[in-house]
Amino acid sequence: MYQSFIGLEVHIHLLTKTKVFCGCKQAFGEEPNTNVCPVCMGYPGVLPSLNIEAMRMGCTVARALHCSIPEKTWFERKQYFYPDMPKNYQISQFASPLGQQGWVDIEGKNRGGSAFKKRVRIKECHLEEDAGKMIHTGAASLLDYNRAGVSLLEIVTEPDMETGEEAEVFIQQLRRLVQYLGVCDGNMEEGSLRADANVSINLPGKGLGKKVEIKNLNSSRFVRLGLNYEIGRQAEALDAGKTLVQETRLWNENRDQTEPMRQKENAQDYRYFPEPDLPVFCPDAAFRASVEAALVEEPVARQKRLEADYGLSAEHADLICEEKALADYFEAAVEAARASGLDRGEAAARIANWLLLDCRHIMHREGIPLDALTGARLPAERLAALAGLLARGEVSGKNARQALEEALLGKGDPERIIRERGWSILKDPAAIARTAAGVYEAEKAVFDEARALAASAAGAGSEAQAAQKRAKSLRAYLVGKVLAASGGRADPALAGAEVARLLEGSR
Ligand code: ADP
Ligand code: ZN
Ligand code: MG
Repeated sequence: MYQSFIGLEVHIHLLTKTKVFCGCKQAFGEEPNTNVCPVCMGYPGVLPSLNIEAMRMGCTVARALHCSIPEKTWFERKQYFYPDMPKNYQISQFASPLGQQGWVDIEGKNRGGSAFKKRVRIKECHLEEDAGKMIHTGAASLLDYNRAGVSLLEIVTEPDMETGEEAEVFIQQLRRLVQYLGVCDGNMEEGSLRADANVSINLPGKGLGKKVEIKNLNSSRFVRLGLNYEIGRQAEALDAGKTLVQETRLWNENRDQTEPMRQKENAQDYRYFPEPDLPVFCPDAAFRASVEAALVEEPVARQKRLEADYGLSAEHADLICEEKALADYFEAAVEAARASGLDRGEAAARIANWLLLDCRHIMHREGIPLDALTGARLPAERLAALAGLLARGEVSGKNARQALEEALLGKGDPERIIRERGWSILKDPAAIARTAAGVYEAEKAVFDEARALAASAAGAGSEAQAAQKRAKSLRAYLVGKVLAASGGRADPALAGAEVARLLEGSR
């Protein structure tokens, strides 16, 4: 058996409105080379200036990862030549990155089902600019510099993970965390969150092995698959008496394997030197306070709290916590229901079911975004009011769901919809008695038969048993008539009681 070591380098696009060192708009999917200026195009004689929001967002992530923010942080130039980098250097951080020495606790299950729970140390977080995009066509390579200079935060872990599953969970947790912080959309397919994975194996006690870096892992699943493949490949090579080389490999998602890309590069020399055009950044008390104020309850902690406080299953709590807006909405709705007198656990179960089954289904089918739900279409108080109607038996489960659907389609308050459609369950005994009286007139013969049967059902013989059975079915028939006469709105229990009263009363 070998020991394995995995360290991740995760790049996230920060959701700043403008690029990190110039005033260009930061946007994706626009006409190529429209969001560019002399600064991000690397023209001579221009000066970069730091986007303070990028620094704030970067520091917020760093603090959420329990990193410390140094007294002084600054930028270096990382020299390399590649066409997507028009300056021939990238402004990055090297000697004093904005976040240092943090940690994240991860928790999950390995392939065989064994649980893991461990602390992954964060080596650093640093702010840098993204490169442009190269688009390879058959005839030529095209360059789009809209992405050049976009604010990018790199998060580097120590090699503390051991399996693809651990790395996958790390990415998933990090992804949710940055989304909760509102600093990154976390979309891996679109490249807003990109992970490079470093992995080595060695005999136990021998320390780190020869590092292989895997690129092109654009989903957390590929991170898991790529790493597990690579650990297996390296073990086979060592078993066969081969020596491993330090190299960079690419994940090939069509073949489910890693393939060599380039061998390097212990000594790739980027000739880092301090960026002379940007001042050293010294976070003052106000800046640090604004960073702390931007922190939120961590998604993992929140999920556990929802399980404990609301009695949700782990699976439901996980789904509710998938997006912060949904978790916020869920809690607001349950608290509103509770304030109006409902049992908290009951309201939570009902609302979680609506959100995770009915609403999700409808929203998916109709292409309704989450903010339409949490925003104007169905404010949390209205969902709570609907839960109240159902809990008090004033609407059937089916009609409540129908009202939910119409509210999601933009037709307004579900409580009003229920009233206008006549879906409210009739709870007024006098009204039900009036309806039943009408049925009594129309079904006098059945009432008489039922009454006569009740008399002969008194004994214990088989005849009496048959009479009991028949009396029961006649009663059900009469209750059904009352419900039908009320347009399906009468409370079934009250209708039953009224039929029983009529049968007894006139005997
Ligand atoms: P480099 O100088 O090549 O960029 P770093 O020391 O900055 O290497 O580490 C980059 C990433 O690789 C980090 O996430 C680190 O944890 C991981 N790493 C470094 N050495 C190894 C190794 N031998 N095995 C596995 N991961 C490693
Ligand atoms: Zn620019
Ligand atoms: Mg490095």
